[in-house]
Amino acid sequence: MTKEPKHMTQDELFKVLVAHCKEYGFIFPSSEIYDGLAAVYDYGQMGVQLKQNIKTYWWEAMTRLHENIVGIDSAIFMHPRIWEASGHVGAFNDPLIDNKDSKKRYRADVLIEDFLGKIEEKINKEVAKGRKRFGDSFDEAQFRATNPNVLREQAKWDEVHNRYVAAEKANDLAEYRQIIIDNNIVCPISGTCNWTDVRQFNLMFQTSMGSTAEGANIIYLRPETAQGIFVNYLNVQKTGRMKIPFGIAQIGKAFRNEIVARQFIFRMREFEQMEMQFFIKPGTELDWFAKWKEARMKWHVNLGMGAENYRFHDHEKLAHYANAATDIEFNFPFGFKELEGIHSRTNFDLGNHQKFSGKKIEYFDPEENVSYTPYVIETSIGVDRMCLAVMAHSYTVEKLENGEERVVMKIPAPLAPIKVAVMPLVKKDGLPEVAQKVVDELKYDFSYQYDEKDSIGKRYRRQDAIGTPFCVTVDHDTLVDGCVTVRDRDTMTQERVKIEDLRAMIDKKVSLTNLLRNL
Ligand code: ATP
Repeated sequence: MTKEPKHMTQDELFKVLVAHCKEYGFIFPSSEIYDGLAAVYDYGQMGVQLKQNIKTYWWEAMTRLHENIVGIDSAIFMHPRIWEASGHVGAFNDPLIDNKDSKKRYRADVLIEDFLGKIEEKINKEVAKGRKRFGDSFDEAQFRATNPNVLREQAKWDEVHNRYVAAEKANDLAEYRQIIIDNNIVCPISGTCNWTDVRQFNLMFQTSMGSTAEGANIIYLRPETAQGIFVNYLNVQKTGRMKIPFGIAQIGKAFRNEIVARQFIFRMREFEQMEMQFFIKPGTELDWFAKWKEARMKWHVNLGMGAENYRFHDHEKLAHYANAATDIEFNFPFGFKELEGIHSRTNFDLGNHQKFSGKKIEYFDPEENVSYTPYVIETSIGVDRMCLAVMAHSYTVEKLENGEERVVMKIPAPLAPIKVAVMPLVKKDGLPEVAQKVVDELKYDFSYQYDEKDSIGKRYRRQDAIGTPFCVTVDHDTLVDGCVTVRDRDTMTQERVKIEDLRAMIDKKVSLTNLLRNL
């Protein structure tokens, strides 16, 4: 059994994954029979369960494993002043640039970052070549410091990076364009460097609320769930009698009018976030920031998708509200990209809501006998981006010994949409009835599929394609010995198991409780 290399370009991967996700009921383009709606997707019968399992893992890790974290579910519509207070009306912008030949629109910052990524790739290739050439005696640090090709590329990277960071800090849109022109960064569609100026573009969707045009108020679809937490800070703190430090968690939809709409569920216009705001005493924020970085990394690595596939990326330019920020990046097959953000948001949000609403938002610390506006550490992860990370990592093509190929989704078992498939070997001789009994034994604990169509081989392939960890086959021997054949998705090994032992055996591998216990 060999595994095909998983490195693909973003376009290749998206092509393969989009097709697979659609064929097996994970994700469909929104409004497909009307030719779709850009950057909006629907979850099908498999996708919805994967998504639900991810949300449950997060929700329980936050609210059940921390007695000082509670959850809320705030409305999507909020008072429009909230978005003035939060800075989103004034500053929630992306720098956009158009290619005059292809008429395609891009984020100028993303074009530059991708260019930097390509230089990094070239350097890594040189290093890999060096490692191959020198074998055991290879000294990477020395190679990087002396190899002329690496030095040349590194100098280019440094130059572009320094200009980019300076332009970001100064919000210098003309300089963004100049970096693109000077480095001959071309449009991937037209291949030309014929660019417009860079403009700011606000990402919030607007609609109006009210029955008459004159009386209507402009309101925004929330671009993040966090503000629903901030404006409920007092409600939760008082009614829950919460003592600092404490957190409020929320899962919900967010909306952003993203400029680049070619990235499948990596960047959507309607998406779901899992955010937790942790309220702390001013001055303790860097400690808590470090603690939450560690806790969130542990949550990810605990899924078993390889610790080497995650890394922190500390921000050099901080958002208007932050005094420290990092991303947890995941090694997607198209490179390391942001999966989750962790931000030290100071008292920016609560302070501004206090100013804009005129309501006092303070915490009285009974032990120290002082009042203050709490500081906040935020952890923020996209459910959909997490789904993509899981799907992209799990998608595996294997060559079998008989020369056939199988496509198997090696989804971490506790997240798999279907935990077990139950199949009678044939559709007669009383086997379906026994299989039904097996289903009755398992259905209260596990999501399952019953399948009696086609050959067993074909049925296995169907389950592999949706990532079902176990297939249970009822055959003629079952009628005699009360045992079934259990086939493991990843190893394809089969073992005979007594029907009454099935539940415990499956549970051991697919249990979310065990996953939580390891945190
Ligand atoms: P990016 O730099 O990729 O635009 P961001 O830094 O604006 O992301 P945050 O505002 O920190 O993202 O949002 C927190 C998380 O929400 C991100 O880490 C990501 O997982 C998710 N997210 C943000 N925007 C989108 C989107 N358009 N589609 C899907 N998920 C998103």
